Amino acid sequence: MKFGYRIEPDQKVDLSKIPTKADAGLSHEEGEAKLEDLGRELGELAELMYAASMHSMLVVFQGRDTAGKDGAINRLLSFVNVQGAQVSSFKVPSPKELAHDFLWRVHSETPGKGGIQVFNRSHYEDVLVVRVHKLVPEEVWEKRYDHINAFEKLLTDSNTIVVKFMLHISKDEQEERLLAREQEVDKAWKLAVGDWKERELWDEYAKAYEVALERCSPKNAPWIVIPADKKWFRDLAVAHHLVEALAPYRDQWEKSLQALGEKAKAELAAYRSTPK
Ligand code: AMP
Ligand code: MG
Repeated sequence: MKFGYRIEPDQKVDLSKIPTKADAGLSHEEGEAKLEDLGRELGELAELMYAASMHSMLVVFQGRDTAGKDGAINRLLSFVNVQGAQVSSFKVPSPKELAHDFLWRVHSETPGKGGIQVFNRSHYEDVLVVRVHKLVPEEVWEKRYDHINAFEKLLTDSNTIVVKFMLHISKDEQEERLLAREQEVDKAWKLAVGDWKERELWDEYAKAYEVALERCSPKNAPWIVIPADKKWFRDLAVAHHLVEALAPYRDQWEKSLQALGEKAKAELAAYRSTPK
């Protein structure tokens, strides 16, 4: 079953060749049932990670307007204990943020040991919107791919598990979703004329995404492209990859917790046997 497209180092990326619609051979109902199971497993793994406090996880969500970043994050957070998980949303930088290097505002939002930090947009905006709109000169954004790789290497060397999702939607699906926002009262708050303006730059964004995916997919922090036209599949695929990222650590975390438990018991026994 295929739940998305992991980009390999040095792989050429052509987004028009990667499907935006997929179902892994499952019906919507089967997908939801599988997601419940995966969600439970994800919750368990997140709790183990939290307790063991040896690793942390950074989950990056990127995607065009309406690609479903908010929806996917809401679903993901429904599976994990809120104490261990937090979201950072990256908007247009403030003057203070702009006065620093582009990673300054990002680094302080990375997860501490045991925690999960979810990025709703990220440092990749600095090679996406910034590149498309020429907000800084080319010689500035051009160097950022290397800066990003070095930054993410620092994170993974520091026991942060980095998972990066690009939610991939079609141009038609985006149009439907933008139009739906105008109709649905509870979604109208999300309306932004900017979304329609950005849509006119569809191909420029595709190019910017392709370069970012190609240049920033080393083995330690690869991008995963998620077909996101179907919301239930998008959430299922995200859960699948997060479980896949955390599961290899399960034994290590369980052993460490067992050792901690033994140590605590031994200390308690020693305390009880000491004459008062
Ligand atoms: P939203 O995700 O709808 O709340 O919109 C946030 C907006 O902030 C998007 O239009 C992003 O492109 C923009 N944004 C995020 N990071 C940056 C950045 N580093 N430079 C410029 N714009 C950014
Ligand atoms: Mg928006």
